[in-house]
Amino acid sequence: MSHTLRLSLAAVTSLIASAPLAAQEPCCRREALEVADLYRLDGLDSRRFKYEQYWRVLEPVARSERIRVTPLGKSVQGREIRAVSFGSGDVTVLMWSQMHGDESTATMSLADILHWVADSPEGDALRSLLEDRLTVVLVPMLNPDGAERFRRENSLGVDINRDARRTATPEARILKALRDSIHADFGVNLHDQGTNSAGEGGALVAIALLAPAADEARSWGPVRERARRVASVIAESLAPDLEGRLARYDDAYAARAFGDNMQTWGTSTVLIESGILPGDPEKQELRRLNVVALLSALHGIATGRSDTASTAAYDALPENRDIDYDLLVLGGHLVVGTAGPIRADLAIRFDDSAARTGPTYGEIGDLAEAVAVDTIRVDGLFLHAEPDESGTIHPGAAVRLAVRRGPEPESQLVWEMAAASGPEPHPR
Ligand SMILES: [Zn+2]
Repeated sequence: MSHTLRLSLAAVTSLIASAPLAAQEPCCRREALEVADLYRLDGLDSRRFKYEQYWRVLEPVARSERIRVTPLGKSVQGREIRAVSFGSGDVTVLMWSQMHGDESTATMSLADILHWVADSPEGDALRSLLEDRLTVVLVPMLNPDGAERFRRENSLGVDINRDARRTATPEARILKALRDSIHADFGVNLHDQGTNSAGEGGALVAIALLAPAADEARSWGPVRERARRVASVIAESLAPDLEGRLARYDDAYAARAFGDNMQTWGTSTVLIESGILPGDPEKQELRRLNVVALLSALHGIATGRSDTASTAAYDALPENRDIDYDLLVLGGHLVVGTAGPIRADLAIRFDDSAARTGPTYGEIGDLAEAVAVDTIRVDGLFLHAEPDESGTIHPGAAVRLAVRRGPEPESQLVWEMAAASGPEPHPR
């Protein structure tokens, strides 16, 4: 009898431990949203800010005695790369952003978090906890030369995130040396991604997470396992705001990439990829949700949940799947100058998928099975495509398109798409 009782008590205890988290508020979500809203730094309202602008905006914050700014070295073009740190705890956390120059969302979030660290009142419970238990080292904008041109690579054309093994670039060397000098226990690798879906046919991904593999076999050693728990804590706290829009990034081992190598160097690293939220072309809402992700991660590490949290929320994330194209225009007849009309569908990519600007042709022809974020049907209409200087259109060429009722150039205009602005064509 008593044996049975013990068993059922154990069962009850385990039930409580595994109670669905949806029922309770994930830790720090509300506090973090408050931080994001109250301490949002003005002056970073577009994603295409540059190095000088960023550090000018951060200047008053960096003067706080709670914050330390350390020069780490210079980019290829001589821009000083800086670490900004706070806290004096035993556990070290390294977060770096914008190693890809055109991926700036989290760089804005780091500024907001630093603003909160600098200006929040004495006795702020979350901040005190983080300062006591952690030493947090942030490197916003690891690739300032790329950021200057809003380009992925550094000024020599090297993708810094494919330079972890060789560390041929000063930017990669700076990150590796910093990791080694602070013996980072945890790492957060902050990126932006393009158009992806959460699983097959799922919604557009707003944020994708990954505990990168440390080897070809994608084994779960203790270092990667801790990263998985941190990723799970992040997934829990984002779930209420991003239902169906969270995904797990592809975990194929990338021998040259930083996230993967950080794991092998002993730093439990989580990748956060900010994707796309409809209606958020400058990613200001994603900036806000990154504050939630980062503060939940820090809270999870500070409270030891990185050793104890369930991995269920991370494991249950749908796969982050590439979507081939941003836009399909199906069912039309193509006219190029005096050529055509012929029956042809168009697949279009945007240079900037979030802002939907800079359209270029992906593919032209029979695209009945193609997958895109958006599809427009133009059955019975004529696609008057303006040719390039060679008198043709082709994949990769800029889209200048007028959709008309008839094959004649003067027939009634339905809608048009210009290369420079690339506005969303209105009929949906
Ligand atoms: Zn990236």
